[in-house]
Amino acid sequence: MRGGAKVLIEKHRHEGIFIAKGKDDALVTRNLDPGHAVYGEKRISVDEKKEGLDVKVEYRVWNPFRSKIAAAIVGGVENIHVKPGSKLLYLGAASGTTVSHCSDLVGPEGCVYAVEFSHRSGRDLINMAKRRTNVIPIVEDARYPLKYRMLVGMVDTIFADVAQPDQARIVGHNAQYFLKNGGHFVISIKANCIDSTAPAEAVFASEIKKLQTMDFKPIEYVTLEPFERDHAVVVGTYRPAKDGKEAKAGEKTEKKEKPKPADSD
Ligand code: SAM
Repeated sequence: MRGGAKVLIEKHRHEGIFIAKGKDDALVTRNLDPGHAVYGEKRISVDEKKEGLDVKVEYRVWNPFRSKIAAAIVGGVENIHVKPGSKLLYLGAASGTTVSHCSDLVGPEGCVYAVEFSHRSGRDLINMAKRRTNVIPIVEDARYPLKYRMLVGMVDTIFADVAQPDQARIVGHNAQYFLKNGGHFVISIKANCIDSTAPAEAVFASEIKKLQTMDFKPIEYVTLEPFERDHAVVVGTYRPAKDGKEAKAGEKTEKKEKPKPADSD
């Protein structure tokens, strides 16, 4: 789609993410592979000035109904710790919908190690990575990080969306191998995957407690309504420096208040 002069692109407060301001505002990432969509998402091409010259830049719409990171951003999360230049380990990549936006976001200086154990989804992931050299697809079980240790370097951030009851343990195990001290984690929790009998808020609280026993310091969480029911995204620091300001042991994890419905960026 041609945005031309009608669509205005504005920087989002999260570095590397943008808002396309048109009839309806949309969250967008700058397409690292212009001319190609990954999963049929809408593309917006706009004219921009670069060093005095007119250039065409393409953005891809990031739908919060299809991506938990996008839902957390729209839900007002303070920090997602994925920005230009970041090295990200992504557990539960599926066919790469959200991974592709992370690839746009970290850009050519960054890298996304994308782990998915389903061979079916893994095929799409591998095909997507052929066009995006900053994505390293890994078709393995995230429970066994030793199997892919030769492929993954130290990372700044781990994002996990494996929807498994032992997700906290899986993330802890991967963090021991790959996450730098003072690095960050972003975990999507689907309450009924962990305990379908307890209220969602109780499940989130117990997962946060589990994380605290594993060198993780949760800092904030947001629930993902209206995009996903009974889901939350928890964000925090791994082995923070003792004098670190970001999170102190025993500090309460803060639940973010939702922005008003009109504020849909
Ligand atoms: N994050 C994806 C997105 O936004 O496009 C959706 C992820 S989906 C909710 C969960 C994925 O985790 C599934 O594709 C599933 O096959 C994968 N998964 C579950 N357990 C896994 C494991 N132990 N290792 C690797 N992948 C796993």
